[in-house]
Parts: sequence; C-alpha cells; structure tokens
Amino acid sequence: MDYSSSSFEKAYTYTGGDLGALWSPGCTRFRVWAPTASAVRLRFYPDGGDSAPIREYPMTPGSEGTWTLSLDGDLHGVYYTYLVTVDGITRESIDPYARAGGVNGLRGMVIDLGRTDPDGWASDRGPRMAITDAVIWEVHVRDLSIHPSSGMENKGKYLALTEENTATAHGFPTGLAHIKALGVTHVQLLPIYDYGSVDEACPDRRQYNWGYDPVNFNFPEGSYSSDPFHGEVRVRELKEAIHALHKNGIGVIMDVVYNHVYRRDDFGFNKIVPGYFSRGTSNGSCCGNDTASERSMVRKFIVDSLCYWAEEYHLDGFRFDLAGIIDADTIRLARQALERKTPGLLLYGEGWNMNTVVTKQNVSLATQKNAPSLPGFGFFNDTIRDLVRGPLFETTDPGFASGAFRALSELASAFAGRPGWTENPGQSINYCSCHDNYTLADRIALARPGISKQELARRNRLAAAFCILSQGVPFFQAGEEMLRSKPSGRGGFVDNSYRSSDRVNALRWNTFESPDALQTLRYYQGLIALRKEFPLFRLTSRAQIDEKLHSFPCGGAHTPGFLLEDSGRRLLVIFHPEDTPLEVSLPQGTWNALVWDNDAGTRILFQAEGRILLPPVAAAVLTAYNTTRTKFI
Ligand code: CA
Repeated sequence: MDYSSSSFEKAYTYTGGDLGALWSPGCTRFRVWAPTASAVRLRFYPDGGDSAPIREYPMTPGSEGTWTLSLDGDLHGVYYTYLVTVDGITRESIDPYARAGGVNGLRGMVIDLGRTDPDGWASDRGPRMAITDAVIWEVHVRDLSIHPSSGMENKGKYLALTEENTATAHGFPTGLAHIKALGVTHVQLLPIYDYGSVDEACPDRRQYNWGYDPVNFNFPEGSYSSDPFHGEVRVRELKEAIHALHKNGIGVIMDVVYNHVYRRDDFGFNKIVPGYFSRGTSNGSCCGNDTASERSMVRKFIVDSLCYWAEEYHLDGFRFDLAGIIDADTIRLARQALERKTPGLLLYGEGWNMNTVVTKQNVSLATQKNAPSLPGFGFFNDTIRDLVRGPLFETTDPGFASGAFRALSELASAFAGRPGWTENPGQSINYCSCHDNYTLADRIALARPGISKQELARRNRLAAAFCILSQGVPFFQAGEEMLRSKPSGRGGFVDNSYRSSDRVNALRWNTFESPDALQTLRYYQGLIALRKEFPLFRLTSRAQIDEKLHSFPCGGAHTPGFLLEDSGRRLLVIFHPEDTPLEVSLPQGTWNALVWDNDAGTRILFQAEGRILLPPVAAAVLTAYNTTRTKFI
C-alpha cells in the first residue's frame, strides 16, 4: 500500500482533535488511527509494568480510518494498549498519542491531567519576547544536579529544577540560583519526552544517556521522575520544574526529536500502521528510520504533539533536532498552529542538509537554505561556530578565538548575523558550543596544546564575547561559563558524551572555586547584562543592521572592530585575537569602557579619549553619547 499516494491520503486523513484517550469524570473516549487494520481491541491493565491484562474491548470503525470506543466511569490511572490486526497479524502497541504511560513507556495510561497541575499552574506563564532578546542556555536534566557539589537534593531529577537558593559547600550558587544569576532568559532542556536508552525500572543503576531516542513523544521521560512506575508522577514533576523556572522569569525550551525513533518496528505508530511513520530505512538521521513527515498523519502527529506540549506544559519554545529531515510544510504548519494557540514561542532547529529519502515528489526540507521560506523559524549557525571555535572535523585546527586569523570581512558577516542563508537576524542561532562535539574549553585546548589555564580562559571569554554580542540569538551549552570540560580520563576529551558517565557529563559546580572559572562566570554575566542593556545588540531586521552597524577599522590586520550607532548612542566593539597589545585610535569624544581585558558588564570601568592600548586576546566594548550624529563607515 502506498501510504503517500493521494488516494490513500484522501481516504484516510483524519483531521479531528480527539486522537488518544480523552478522560472526563464520567467517561473516557478512545480513538486510534488504524486505516489498514481489520480489527482493533482495547486492552486494560492494572499497572504499567508486566501484569496480566484485566479486560479487553472491541473497538468500532470510525471515520477516515480511525477506531473508537467510549467507556463509562472514571478511568484515570488505568493502563491500556491497542491490539491491532493487519494482514492477519495482531500486534500489541502503546497508543502513540498516549498522554501518560507506565515504566519504560510500554503501556499508556488514561490520565486526568488536571490532577497533575501544581499549585498556581492556572496562572503560570513563561516569558514572551522577540527571539533576538533571548539568551539560551542548554542543559541536560541529570547533568544539572547529579554532581556531589551541586548542593541539590533531587539529584538527576526534574525536581532539582524546583530547588531555590542551592549552593556549593563554598557558597557558589548552583542550579536555579545559578541560572538566575547568570541572566539567561531561557533554559533549553535536552530530551524530556520518553526515550528508550535508560531502563526506568532500575533507578538505582548508574545509567546515562542524552535521550535522542524517542519511544513516546507525548509524555515525559520517567528516569527523571521520583517514580517512573506511576504515569502521573513524571507529568506532575516536569510541570513543577517548568513552573519553578517560570516563577523566576525563565523560559523553558523543549528539545524535540521528531526526525527519528528509538527502534522503528517497536514504535507505536509503526506497529499500528506498519511502517507508516518512517521513510523505510532512509538513514539521514543516522538511525535508519527517518520520519516520513510529508505523510498527512505523521504531519498531523507532529503538529498535534507540539501543540499539546505547548498548551499542557506551558513550554516557551521548541528546538528541533535535525529539522533538515522534516519537510518545510510541516514546520510551517506547526508554527501556524502554535502561533494560533500559544503565540510567541521560540522555534528553531538544526537545518543541516541530510541525506534522507522522502516518499513524495517535490518535498522541500527544513534546511538552512530554505530559511527564506520559513519565517519565524531559526537555525543553528555553524558558520559562526566554526569561525570562532574552529572547524567541526579538523578538531585540532584553531578558530578565531583560539588564534586563527580570519578575514575581517568574514568576521564582519558573522558579527552581523549574516551567514548567507538568513532572512533576518532572528533566524541565526549563534553558538560556540552545544551538547554535540567538544566543549568550548576542550576545543580550545585541542587547538592550543600546552595552553595555560589563564590563556584558555581568556580565549574562551573572547569566543563568548563574539557569540553573545553578535546580531542574532546567543546560545551556549551549560557550563561554558565555568570552562566546562568533558575529560576522557585518558588525557583527552570526550566529544560525543551521549552515553558517557556522570563523571564526564555532570556540571561540576565546585569548578567555581577556580579563580579562572569564577572570573569567566562573571564575564558571561557581564556580557549577558550588556546585551540586555543595549537594544543595538538585539536588532531585529537586516535593514536595521545595515543602518546601525558598521565596520570600524582598528588598524590591526586581524582585529575586527564595529560601530553600532542609534539615536546618538554609540557602541564601539573590538575583538582582538593577537598575543600582543594593539594601539587603536578612538573616534572623537569621550568613551566609557564596559568590556575590557577580563571584565565585562554595564558598569563603566574607565573613560578614554584619543588612543588606547588594547590588551592581547580580549574583547573591548566602549560606549559614547554623540550629540552630533555622525556616520561611520
Ligand atoms: Ca524512558
């Protein structure tokens, strides 16, 4: 059967909003899409583990290939599966629309979601802002709290995010207190949907995974909950974590991995409608089961899933793993649906061009080059990443921050948030590190063997200044601000720590006892405060950038300088990568230094006129008020 044919789609595209198990006090309505099934039965269990079934009910064929059943009574807490017969073979499957599930996500659970709402949830609301006003900090739930120095009680759990005023033994803020002090606007959580690579039945076993292996897209991972055996607990605890962040003005962005599943043939959708969800064995996503987002009911599933998370969990944005696998129409429809229901979310993803095999003609994918057709959707900017940090594959080659001199024109394009594919700066997610690849500090160390700790910290800070002050959206991996390292234990570093131990991955909060790390933290805090203080760092259109941002020749062949100017306020921004000082002639007037040497912030460090001597390997930001508006070229 050609699932992608127009005749199949015409007959079997269901558009209703009631797929899954919809609880109400007196009755629960089940609806599942199974257009190729000859029979579907609903099976009940007393728990989500390995107990025997207690009841079975035949379901009735409904419209557009769906099967339905309504059952009276309060069914909250009942676990269920579907038995679906296709071509004489009966498979038992979890409901892909299940809103809760048992341990390891094998069975769905009927849930009264109202019972999972924390106190105050009705008035819970995350921050809304232009994406260029956001500063995004990417963290793994377990990494945040698992280290002994975290001072947190709920180590490795969602609830650690609810702990206020935690600190190390030496009094350095950790967790939520750290996030607030850092000044970021949004936390991006690595996968929090139910994934497969950690056995939830063994919470005391030391296990670790990033979680890019989805099993159930519509309920949270159980290993981060205090009780993975009762389906409502993970739902409530994740909501509590989001609520705690919202109460502190911090937005929460969910990392969604709709591009593939853990195991193709075990995935619920593919059991119920064999092979429907996936593009066969297409391997653009490196899991051998790229998602066939171009099929109408996969597209609907993705849009429904996003809207569900946004509405039920009050999320403030989504980061799409390998958006380049997903077709652009699905991303556009998702954005429109979200904009209608929960306006103002931040949406962006990895727009890499992957080798995927789509099932229809003329499918356009959500890659960087298609950015102009995807307004309101941003992409990770690998151009600025590779320029500042160093190339992706030649991992010992330096980048601008580790000593590679680059053409000033190239640096100017990067600083202007213009990698070549963006329509506007809001489409450029600027970063030097994320969970993938080496940490920024490790990458600098690889490019500069034998580098001193002090110089490594200086170069890390130079990279941060460039990324955080560039036009676009600043993003960094948690711990960049503490010179986070992922040591291999064999003298090297781990670049792909997706299943490494806590020893490699944990945020080691006691790192702040090192003066270099603490100074780096202060510097990041200062850069973020500075970015927030001056709208000139957060321009929202190409036209604004053309008007307000100009190159400023410093005189050094390798030292890019920029002038930002608006309404008489001027900012001079210089990134000096060389090992020797550089003398620079300031434009006329009195200049107040805000970033200089090892310091950054909104406080005036000193005033200068005429000529100044830039310290080596450092950024500089100076500001002046100009009464006679001047154009600098
Ligand atoms: Ca799981």
